[in-house]
Amino acid sequence: MLALAVQHKYVHYWVTDQETDELTHVFMAHPEAVKMFRSYYYVVQIDSTYKTNEYRLPLVEMVGVTPVGKSFVIAYALVTHESEEKYLWVLRKLKALLNDAVQLNAIVTDCEGGLLNAIPIVFPDSSHLLCLWHIYSNVETKALYITGQDSWAKHVTCNLFQAVVEAETEDKFNVAWGKLAREWAGVAAYIERQWFPHLEKWAKYRTNKITHFGNTSTSRVESAHANLKRWLNSAKLAVDSIWSRFHSLMETQHVEIRHSLELSRSRRLTGIQRLFSRLSLKISKNAISELREEFERGAKMTKDALTIDCGCVKATTLGLLCACSLHRISRNGSRVPVDVLHAFWRKLEYDGSEAMPTCDDDRLEELFEEIRNADPSMRSSMFDALYSQIHPEQEDVNEPRVNENPRGRPSRGTRRDPSAVEHARVRVRVGTLSSQRTPSSTPRSTPTVPVTPSSTPRSTPTVRFTP
Ligand SMILES: [Zn+2]
Repeated sequence: MLALAVQHKYVHYWVTDQETDELTHVFMAHPEAVKMFRSYYYVVQIDSTYKTNEYRLPLVEMVGVTPVGKSFVIAYALVTHESEEKYLWVLRKLKALLNDAVQLNAIVTDCEGGLLNAIPIVFPDSSHLLCLWHIYSNVETKALYITGQDSWAKHVTCNLFQAVVEAETEDKFNVAWGKLAREWAGVAAYIERQWFPHLEKWAKYRTNKITHFGNTSTSRVESAHANLKRWLNSAKLAVDSIWSRFHSLMETQHVEIRHSLELSRSRRLTGIQRLFSRLSLKISKNAISELREEFERGAKMTKDALTIDCGCVKATTLGLLCACSLHRISRNGSRVPVDVLHAFWRKLEYDGSEAMPTCDDDRLEELFEEIRNADPSMRSSMFDALYSQIHPEQEDVNEPRVNENPRGRPSRGTRRDPSAVEHARVRVRVGTLSSQRTPSSTPRSTPTVPVTPSSTPRSTPTVRFTP
């Protein structure tokens, strides 16, 4: 694996156990992916997956997004476990791919504790968003346990909690929250305890101030996991096989990304309004589609309503223009200028002169000078350390030790284990999940959605709801 990484000019880091020489963590970044990341560094999704290797190590994928909407794997890492310490190591290597001056806008993850703590340490100035899909699924699980009824759990998460998440202002948030708390005090208490400490990472009235380019879930990295597992086609691969298969998968993706960028640069859009005519070939097609959609949204509103109620969310979250600005430009008979749109949408090439991380030549010279002038006894160990980084294939590195306490069970193929909400849904259906509803979680008002035959659980509910 290490020899292949050197041969293919990967940016890679590795650590071995000092006593056993077993590989404990390894970080791999394809050179083409590094170039992309140094252009498209605004948003990163991070998540780990199991069942990819014979050592039962979690594999952490870091996924970026291009202005043409396609995702790319920036880097991946194998670590012994998902602790804060291991995530600190991974995140520092990720950061080393960028220039010091460069700032990530947003990092999207699930609620993994080690990662939650490590992100603000390594990226103190970036916003951290929690995957909304994971939060919904956790709240639904809790609601299933409290209510014991599938349809009611869905009602809480889909209607009441969604209204809380989606509220665009603090006032609307408080109104939606009041409604949920009145109807489902037990679920509300759980949300308050579990999710309120991270409010700025999921409530839209807070996250709408972040330029996250629409990334509010880890769906990109989740589909990268699924893609990878199809490509690996085994849960028990050795490190060199993982490297080779992952390498060919990434090369395929890079061809697709280069092709879509090329199309945005070369193929003029037809039927485009005069308002957007300056943007063709200058920004990605996806950005033009977003702008057209936003303009249409504004066209359905009166001028006064637009001035008051635009929300201007697309301006902050996507770095584009919102409906009120677009209609103002349109009324003036002007056209949307390219330079007011976020640089992300304007970068249709990533192979510039600053495309690869490099170290300062002067610092390198200083280091060589230090080694030359060092005491002979020290010089030998310095030489060894450098040599092992340049020629890892000649090192006595042993394969990682098999993880005794894996989170997944490789014997059942590459499929992930069912999530908590999937377990709870099944248990509700077969009637083994009895209600744990406490007096505090009894709805204080009439539920707003009547239980219709179609939403009646298939098993006999253990709690009767009185309308
Ligand atoms: Zn606006």
